[in-house]
Amino acid sequence: MNMTITAITNAAVFDGENTIGIKTVVVEDDLITGLSSSEASTPGGIESIVDGSGCTLLPGLIDSHAHLYDRVADLETCAKNGVTTLLDMGNRDYRFVDRLREVPRAASVFSVLGVAYAPGSTMLKAMYFPEDCGVKDSVDAIRFVDDQVDRGADFIKIILEDPMQNNGIKWPFEVAKALVDRAHEAKKLVIAHAVTPDSYLEALQFGVDEISHVPFVPLPQSTLDELIAHKVTIVPTLTMMSTIAQKLNESFGIPITADFCFKTVAEFHRAGVNILAGTDANFDDPPSMATPMVYGSSLHRELGYLVQVGLGPREALAAATSRPADFFGLSDRGRIAVGKRADLYLCKGNPSEEIADICKAVQVWVAGEEVL
Ligand SMILES: [Zn+2]
Repeated sequence: MNMTITAITNAAVFDGENTIGIKTVVVEDDLITGLSSSEASTPGGIESIVDGSGCTLLPGLIDSHAHLYDRVADLETCAKNGVTTLLDMGNRDYRFVDRLREVPRAASVFSVLGVAYAPGSTMLKAMYFPEDCGVKDSVDAIRFVDDQVDRGADFIKIILEDPMQNNGIKWPFEVAKALVDRAHEAKKLVIAHAVTPDSYLEALQFGVDEISHVPFVPLPQSTLDELIAHKVTIVPTLTMMSTIAQKLNESFGIPITADFCFKTVAEFHRAGVNILAGTDANFDDPPSMATPMVYGSSLHRELGYLVQVGLGPREALAAATSRPADFFGLSDRGRIAVGKRADLYLCKGNPSEEIADICKAVQVWVAGEEVL
């Protein structure tokens, strides 16, 4: 543990919601212990000063959708890119998540552990998700949720595939409902993977809290209305959607674009839907049907896309800091304020006005430790 007291001076501070001007931020051990105007005298006991002139200091970024493998390096890559928290939305073996939660100087991890899927799901088999994640009936749904909770899952994830794309395999309403209800009894948020209008509608009927991804085709207005009424949060993963479209074009000659993904997220934004930044980062080893996605820098790209669909740069930054902290209940982070975890990202320029500056990393602290 770094036991020194550090002051970061002269940087413009984005506190997770707003830009609050040039401040001096004091870090002691793993916490932010001071936040004062630059004119105030630097508090005593400071052992190290970082001059942030020409830079912006932000809360460490949160990637709300990624996938972990048994690889510490991916978490270190995240940290070096200012991504100090990563939410794992499904992995091939829940046991390595415990080890990854303990890695110092790397992004900290929250995880769904296993993902529930309808047994026989062709896509999930091809992704190497464990067999015990196949949920066959309402009793098994309770077994699945209880297993994840016992193993330390932070959230519950269900995969809603379009039956048209999955040999007609889907859950009856009562099975999915049993999953969602059991998770809510255990005070866990439920995240649904859904990529088509039909699976979006299912997710809404089942009462999930968040939907990840966004369809390649238009979403009917009635579904959008229902989504607003249910106050469902969306993690669109535009970075992944556009990468998939590109791959389908280049490798398979399928003339698909991510245009409707972008248009739909723009509609979500206009309608006031809570949108969070997630990338679907994954290493895909051994290779599966998945499309690999780099860790860390992909979140910078996602923030650029969120601005492209209409979020202001500050809103986009909030979608990777205070908003996911609030939604996922990560109350110790996502903001620069006294008492919060010292997960901090110093970058050159001013991403709260020019989002492209978010990739200009200068320094990163994870729980008060410099990692760059
Ligand atoms: Zn994913």
